[in-house]
Order: sequence, then structure tokens, then C-alpha cells
Amino acid sequence: KEEKSLNFIEEIVEADLQSGKYTQIITRFPPEPNGYLHIGHASSICLNFGLTKKFPGYTNLRFDDTNPVTEDTEYVESIKNDIRWMGFEWEHELYASDYFDTLYDFAIQLISKGLAYVDDSTSEEIAALKGTPTEPGKDSPFRSRTVEENLALFEQMKSGAFPDGSRTLRAKIDMAHINMLMRDPILYRIKHAHHHRTGNKWCIYPMYDFAHGQSDSIETVTHSICTLEFAPHRELYDWIIATLEIYPSHQYEFARRNLNYTVTSKRKLLQLVQENHVNGWDDPRMPTISGLRRRGYTPESIRDFCDRIGVARRENMIDVGLLEFCVREDLNRKALRRMVVLDPLKVVITNFPEGVTEMCHSENNPEDIATGVREIPFTRELYIEKEDFMEVPTKKYFRLAPGKMVRLKGAYIIQCDDFVKDENGEITEVRCTYIENSKSGQDTTGIHVKGTLHWVSASHALKVEVRLYDRLFSVEDVSSEEGDFKDYINPNSLDVITGYAEPALQEANEGESFQFLRKGYFAKDPDSSSDKLVFNRTVTLRDNWAK
Ligand code: ATP
Ligand code: MG
Ligand code: MG
Repeated sequence: KEEKSLNFIEEIVEADLQSGKYTQIITRFPPEPNGYLHIGHASSICLNFGLTKKFPGYTNLRFDDTNPVTEDTEYVESIKNDIRWMGFEWEHELYASDYFDTLYDFAIQLISKGLAYVDDSTSEEIAALKGTPTEPGKDSPFRSRTVEENLALFEQMKSGAFPDGSRTLRAKIDMAHINMLMRDPILYRIKHAHHHRTGNKWCIYPMYDFAHGQSDSIETVTHSICTLEFAPHRELYDWIIATLEIYPSHQYEFARRNLNYTVTSKRKLLQLVQENHVNGWDDPRMPTISGLRRRGYTPESIRDFCDRIGVARRENMIDVGLLEFCVREDLNRKALRRMVVLDPLKVVITNFPEGVTEMCHSENNPEDIATGVREIPFTRELYIEKEDFMEVPTKKYFRLAPGKMVRLKGAYIIQCDDFVKDENGEITEVRCTYIENSKSGQDTTGIHVKGTLHWVSASHALKVEVRLYDRLFSVEDVSSEEGDFKDYINPNSLDVITGYAEPALQEANEGESFQFLRKGYFAKDPDSSSDKLVFNRTVTLRDNWAK
């Protein structure tokens, strides 16, 4: 692989190691377990785990599970599974909820220093006094409570004396601060809710800003990498760490990655699942890691994609075509070739005897000779694609037409002599003769044909269910459209058809990818059973979005 220059975060890390500020680095990937990971998370995973592959140190997996209402252990399991599948392993599996006691102590310390207070205001009242970016806010009437009063009230908040939303704990910083997030931010809220790990132990929960940086610090994370929208939070992150005099982790921001023709927000993806616009989080149309996996994407292709898009300081939209390019590159190297006819037209080889099967051979993967060859049965009745025959061929049409010759891949050259139409004028059968001595690999005829077609023997063909996917949304930038994002769902994103496959496909393993010659890459779906094969089209062979 060619040497790539360092991205700006790698440059920071390299400088920190060279200056001796650190001898090793610690990063973390901090998902909130409120949904499945998507392609945007893949960028963050590659960045965080990639840093400690390149530089000395390690990466933790920390579940940022401070919001009891939306979180679930199903999500925890899927996240771990997806990260491992991506090819990364964490040093420690950690949960922000394990720090609830420590965070509570931190809050007591702030109160004791006179730097936090219990506020009885409603969220509307708090918002009303917040001010605007150009005007200072106003102090809450509860801001001047004594330390003793605050300690007692906070204790009561914890022990369940107050209903949801009736009080908060706020940092006492500066209601005129130029950074709105520093105007006495809320640190704790009351929520009588069951938590997926701590059960009913707590009815107060720390806000993101009072949990994230402190968790980083507890774990002595050196480089805490998050997305750009958290840049304004950095000042508060630093203030809390400095005020509590705890380990100084540092936050760095990079741009979120967005993919066109889809959404990368767990909240929106959850809606698609709950309202049955898709068949679950791992529906092959979803931009989730589990959806991409089921679609036939490989970890290598996703890592390559993340590598190519790199790390940016400014947000932009990435073309899904690049992701498709990456999977084509990878599967071209790895996928075995098989012939599958998706829209069959019968071909009768009139000079080939009935009831006879002749074995042909073809390479499993021309990119990898070690994969050997496979047998393909050739018989009198075959299927080719309907689109590979034209009654009246256009000028550059090198496929089958009356009087024309083509090669059947791995088999003989055939010539079309005649065709049969039904009462509706539809062509139902093409009648051909095969050219003796033209078999692939032992052709002595000297005949040159321009077209090579895929085909299957009609009596040997396996009927397989083939799921063809299109973009999930019909507009490029879903979030910039007016109204509900679901109005832009592509109603034709799934097309289920029956394909006719050569017998060798029977041996496919679950999840295994194949190149169906001339048709694209397809992966065996877990819905398959011993008597029904199901394949998902991962991607077509060439980029035909432009068409
Ligand atoms: P969502 O809006 O989808 O819920 P999130 O940021 O709330 O995303 P988290 O579970 O908090 O989801 O994300 C875990 C990590 O992944 C965070 O560090 C976050 O910044 C990063 N991340 C999430 N989405 C993207 C994205 N689109 N591009 C890059 N990084 C992302
Ligand atoms: Mg988040
Ligand atoms: Mg979120």
C-alpha cells in the first residue's frame, strides 16, 4: 500500500508523543446504546482504533449509557458484534453508568466548592433566563442558595423526594458568558426510569456534559475524539476537569460523515425500523453496519472507504458511489464467479442430443487462480438473459440475434437460426446450433465472436430468490428537504425476483459473496434454507447510477 500522509488528528498525536507529553495514547469509542451502529460510526471506529494501531497505546469501548429511557442491552450486543466484525478489538469494555457513584461524588465536590446549585425552575423558566448569543442571561432566583441547602436538596433529589423535571443541579459559572453552554449548564436531571444496567438504583441521571468528559478522565483517555457539534462543549469539558482537578483528558473534533441517498441518525433509522419501512436494523437497504454486512459488504471494503474519505475538519456529503467502488474492488479479488440468469429466455440447441449432459469447465475466479475451476453442465435446453437476444439487433449489439454467433461462457460458440413467438408476439424460445470443436479451451475453429453470454442448463438450474436493492431514499440530501424525511423514501428500493443458477451455487455458505457473471456481486442471505436459496445484490458490476 502506498504511504499516506497523516491526518490532522494523527499529526496531533504524533507531536504529543514526540514532545514526550505522552508515552502512549488512550482513545475510546463511546457509542450510546440507543440504536445500531451506522456507516458514520464506522468512521469514528476506524479513527479511534486506527490511532492506537498506528501509535503505542490502546482503545476502550465505552458505552455512553447515561440516558435510561432510550437504551437497551440489545443495542449493546449489536455494537460489540459490529466492532469485532469490522476487525477491531477494544482493551476494556466500559460503561459510563458504572461511574454513577463517582459522578455523584464529583457533583458533591462542586456543590461544596460553591460551584453548583439546585434549581427549582422549570425547563421553560431556565430557557427564558438563558439569554441569547448577543444578550447575557439572567440569574435564576435559586442561584444564591447556600452550600448546605444545596447539599441537602441534592441528597433529596437522589433519594427520590421530587418528581421528574421539578429540579435540576446546575453548575454555577457565569450567566453572561459568551459561550451559551457556560451559562450555568444543567449537570443532573430527575428521571424516575429503569436503567438497562443500574435498574432502579438511580432517579437522577447526569447530563452528557457531566458524564462524558469525566468518564474520559476516569479512564485517563489522552485524546477524546468527537464530532464537530461538540466543539462548543469543549470549554465546559475543560472547566469541569480543571475545577475538579482530575486527569486532564483533551477533546478534539472532526467532521461527521454523511452519505447521500440515506440518513445517518439513529433516531431516524429507529423510526424506519419501528414503522416497518424496512425489515429491521439489518435490512440490506439500511446504512447500518449490520445492514451493510447482510448486503454483502466486507469489513475490508468499509475500512477502505473510511480510509479514503479520511478525517475532515468540515462537514460534507460523501457519495455512496465511493462505498460501492470499495466493495467492488474487494469482491473482485475475493468473490467466486457463478452464472445466474435473472430474466430467462429458453435456448434450444437443435444439434445437441436430448438427454445428454456434457460437462464444461470455468475458472472460479480469474483474479485468483488458486480457487481452481468448477464444472458446469451443458445440455440441449438452456436459459440466457432475455436482454441478450434481439430480433432486430441495433448496430453495436454483439449479443444473440438471428444469424449471429456468440460464445456461451466456458462452453461452445452457438449460432441463432430461428426463434419462436407466442400469440402476444413475445419471444419464448430461441433455436440455435452449437459449433463443433469450439469448446472453450479447446477451440480449433478459428471463429471470432464479440459477445460472450452467461447461461445455465434449464434442467439443472436452481431456482433462487434474488433481492435487488435500490437507494433507500430518492433524494440525495435527505436532511435538506422540507417536511418529514420519510416522505422521501424510495418506494421501489426492493425488487424480489427468481433467478436460475448453475448447480455449483448450491454449495454457497451463509453470507458468502459471489460475482454473478455480468450481473454484479451477490451475497447469500440468512433467510436461505436447504431448499430455498436467497441472495442479496450487494452492488452492480459497474457504476450505473449515472444512467
Ligand atoms: P446519532 O445521531 O446517529 O445518534 P450519535 O453521535 O448520537 O449519532 P453516538 O452513539 O453518540 O451517536 O456515537 C458514538 C461515536 O460515533 C461518537 O463519538 C460520535 O461522534 C461518532 N459518530 C456518530 N455519528 C457519526 C458520523 N456520522 N460520522 C462520524 N462519527 C460519528
Ligand atoms: Mg452521542
Ligand atoms: Mg444520538
